[in-house]
Amino acid sequence: MSSNRDLHEPLILVGYWLGPYAPGWPDPHDFVDPSWDAFERQQMVYYLKRGMTARAFMGLSECRFCRQRVGALEFSDGVYIWPEGLAHYVSEHDVRLPAVFVDHAAGMTESLEARSVDRSWWATQSGLEPTDRPVP
Ligand SMILES: [Zn+2]
Repeated sequence: MSSNRDLHEPLILVGYWLGPYAPGWPDPHDFVDPSWDAFERQQMVYYLKRGMTARAFMGLSECRFCRQRVGALEFSDGVYIWPEGLAHYVSEHDVRLPAVFVDHAAGMTESLEARSVDRSWWATQSGLEPTDRPVP
């Protein structure tokens, strides 16, 4: 579990692919695995789509398989950072991501589901405080 990583540690990049303007990245064709468990794959797609938006870029990324424009954002979970379009590769082209990242995502989801919830603070809220209101 890596959820206690220091906030100043670099985010680990995942999901950038080799392309005409992107030399040096892994080739997504080497990650294709149509036999990947459908449930695990769908869980990965959900996880990738619900990251926090970390950065936005001017240009749209183009899918290396089908040329579809797949987004210009980067999402993060605080440990990893990935392009918005990565979910498309997993859901549409059978791209299977490395087990260490899949396990991390599953662990993050499970730990959130298992956490207790403190409802007391919200239950005491009664509306805006005078200092929260805009000055007329
Ligand atoms: Zn595609």
